[in-house]
Amino acid sequence: MTYSYTQISQCVRCPRSYRYRYLDGRREKDTRAAMIFGRCFETALGAYFRREDPSAVLFKEWGAFRDAPFEYRKGDSWDRLVHQGVHLLQKFAQDDRVHVPRPQENLQVKLHRTLPGDNEFVAYIDAFGALDGKECLIDWKTTTSRYTDEPGGLLTLDPQLICYSWISGISDVALVVFVRKQMPEIQYLKASITEEQRKEFGELVHSAVEQIESGRFLPHSGIRFPQNGCTSCSHLGLCLNNQPLIGTNLIRRPGASDLDWLDELVD
Ligand code: SF4
Repeated sequence: MTYSYTQISQCVRCPRSYRYRYLDGRREKDTRAAMIFGRCFETALGAYFRREDPSAVLFKEWGAFRDAPFEYRKGDSWDRLVHQGVHLLQKFAQDDRVHVPRPQENLQVKLHRTLPGDNEFVAYIDAFGALDGKECLIDWKTTTSRYTDEPGGLLTLDPQLICYSWISGISDVALVVFVRKQMPEIQYLKASITEEQRKEFGELVHSAVEQIESGRFLPHSGIRFPQNGCTSCSHLGLCLNNQPLIGTNLIRRPGASDLDWLDELVD
């Protein structure tokens, strides 16, 4: 069995949701415009580091979805996303704070780690490069709201960065957050992950795999602040036996997908 960060985090958040998605094949419809746009934007970033025209690449990639039946968030549209994307790419080039040498080798790098019982863990690292001259592992995010970075050191608790630090053995990590809002903004957030955090994440992975192999997927339900995970869960319709909600949010696709990691691109 091959595990990814998305699988482990979903199991930790709610084992029932894990079962729905990875055993029963009930996954969210792949029509979220923001997620597809995130993929296109990442391809454009790759073009930037290869010294190609990133805006042209973004138009080409995102252009393939111009007439796709996406459900856009209120105020969003195909045009609005592409303009925000171009603006962010221009700002990223002006800032000139991130460098990725040999982009063919250092972008979208697949790492894997062997787990007990013939299992493995796979992660795709967005980039190995340097932020403000300091070498680090970099994760891109496209989002519509700023990441909270206060109090200081908050980023060291980001589970995805801890996961990537665990699988790579690299302490210095960074999030580059492309914020799609009225005035597009880029956050450059740095963190240093400790050896103890990596060790603990390894233990978390082992315990999640044990839980999955035990076949017990008890729900971790929550509807009240701050544990209101059910209200944003795509499997809510299944737990409520609400057929219209199931039909709106989910499709049935057997087994885990090789492309699960793509969910990690956007917030
Ligand atoms: S709706 Fe709540 S209990 Fe049901 S799968 Fe989602 S998070 Fe778990």
